Amino acid sequence: MRFNVAHLLKGTVGIQKSYTIDTPLASGKDTPVNYVKGSLRLMRTDAGVWVNGTLDVSSGATCSRCLEDSTVELRFQMDDVYYPTVDVNTGAMLRLPEDGESSCIIDAQHVLDITEAVRQYTAVGLPMKPLCDPGCAGLCSHCGTNLNHESCSCETWEIDSRWLPLVSLASSTQESSRS
Ligand SMILES: [Zn+2]
Ligand SMILES: [Zn+2]
Repeated sequence: MRFNVAHLLKGTVGIQKSYTIDTPLASGKDTPVNYVKGSLRLMRTDAGVWVNGTLDVSSGATCSRCLEDSTVELRFQMDDVYYPTVDVNTGAMLRLPEDGESSCIIDAQHVLDITEAVRQYTAVGLPMKPLCDPGCAGLCSHCGTNLNHESCSCETWEIDSRWLPLVSLASSTQESSRS
């Protein structure tokens, strides 16, 4: 998602332009963002260009229970200032502010690219344990069958916790009769 902001940089502080975002995004290795939608406002400030707006992102994720590929929907607020590296009028190199994050820069062609920021917002916003569905049944811990698709015979081995005292009683009785 690249925006040429030369016209904004040439303008006076306070001028702005709105963009509607509705675009697929190439999946990256670290954060597989699939699709980005929303609206952004780019405004000229005295330091650079302020990017502000709400984006909805859909991102590929692996379900933490059944390990199948699934999609996670995220919404986040962008609120970043991008700093020009080159003066749009003179072509002179500009000094970045000391505290400016190195990723928030406008390149020498006056292109402001939010792709990396979207990846970072997505990486931070993704749940630690994504689920394909809140009710995902997960994998059988014995045979690995995906219990969302089929059941397996292992389930009969699961012991209802209410019977546990009886089971331990029975085994201890066996132990004592053996001794
Ligand atoms: Zn799942
Ligand atoms: Zn099983």
